[in-house]
Amino acid sequence: MDILNQLKNMKEVFWINPNYKSFHEVVETLPVKLEDVIDAKERLERFAPFIEKAFPEVRGGIIESPISSIPRLKTWMEEEMEMRIPGSFLLKRDDLLSIAGSIKARGGIYEVLKHAEKLAMDNGILSMEDDYSILCEDRFKEFFKDYTIQVGSTGNLGLSIGTISAKIGFKVIVHMSSDAKEWKKDLLRSKGVEVIEYPDDYSKAVEEGRKNSDMDPNSHFVDDENSKDLFLGYAVGGLRLKDQLDHMGIVIDEKHPLVVYLPCGVGGGPGGVAFGLKLTYGDNVHCYFAEPTHSPCMMLGMVTGKHEEISVEDIGLDNKTEADGLAVGRPSGFVGRLMDSLLSGAFTIEDSKLYYYLKGLYNEEGIFIEPSSLAGFNGPIFTNILYKDKHPYQMMWATGGSLVPKGEREKFLTR
Ligand SMILES: *Cc1c(COP(=O)(O)O)cnc(C)c1O
Repeated sequence: MDILNQLKNMKEVFWINPNYKSFHEVVETLPVKLEDVIDAKERLERFAPFIEKAFPEVRGGIIESPISSIPRLKTWMEEEMEMRIPGSFLLKRDDLLSIAGSIKARGGIYEVLKHAEKLAMDNGILSMEDDYSILCEDRFKEFFKDYTIQVGSTGNLGLSIGTISAKIGFKVIVHMSSDAKEWKKDLLRSKGVEVIEYPDDYSKAVEEGRKNSDMDPNSHFVDDENSKDLFLGYAVGGLRLKDQLDHMGIVIDEKHPLVVYLPCGVGGGPGGVAFGLKLTYGDNVHCYFAEPTHSPCMMLGMVTGKHEEISVEDIGLDNKTEADGLAVGRPSGFVGRLMDSLLSGAFTIEDSKLYYYLKGLYNEEGIFIEPSSLAGFNGPIFTNILYKDKHPYQMMWATGGSLVPKGEREKFLTR
């Protein structure tokens, strides 16, 4: 219970998951299978001709992000912390993902495309053998405009769902929480998306969005807390990582484990990616979730075993953080249970540290990412002794940033 007290007092904590098990012991018992992720990957490949036509900046129509090596950041961190950190530092650049500029381009876009495919197929206007670029034709826009997509969001999921839905031709309503940034709402409205704002937090926006959607039989609600499709879209990213590392000549094995630090909000993004990584690398990948000290919902749910039945407000926290993508008070129970024996551990980070690393990364490597994206950077310090006799590839998963307007960037960099 010591961990609980530390969470209550908003101390930075590192939690090693006592339920962690070897992957082959649990893989058969999980509610999501490798086949499901492969199915999602293939669906995204079917949609590639559409994506390429609708968003010419996405070459080949596959939305994927590069990996940057960040050795100068490692040296800087070792000097700052006065400690040796084993292995090499890598940055996964989901901040650069096309269309949404965040990790939400994975799950959000996948779920909307899957829904569109099903509607079109059920109505006999699309078949699997078609070249999906026909979806850009007016007759499809005419068809999709009778259907609505709705979602509750702290910002980035709304950006992703709103942009892709509007492009397909759906009517789309994004229910935004009070922490959502103004520029995100403005950007969405400029694309013809209806944005409804709520004075409360994200859970309220989700609840209202769900209610609103349930009243309309032609409306689909993207359920960030429970959606298996969102999860599968994220998981594809984990599957694809191996090809990328292979191309870089990086071989992952027991002596060279992949250690991944994933910023976590409700859990779908980091959970999906972690699941895809476990399917790929099994026991040679170690996944850690990172959360703000003001909103450690996933760690709280997993430590207590109460998952979605407990919120950070229940232990007296305010759920107010500069990491707007992570400002979630109640975790996904679906993800928490699924990760129960797959997650190596989790840790928290103070808001001031997000800015400290934001500037460090910018000064050392010339890379700007948004505050939420820096949550994982405490990871190598916490796990330092665990991997000291190996050569770990320490991968910080940057989850967003490329769409942040210039004025906002300057504000972040001068804090
Ligand atoms: C949404 C988000 C996350 C976390 O994803 P969840 O599915 O909410 O856990 C991390 N970083 C950024 C920038 C995000 O927008």
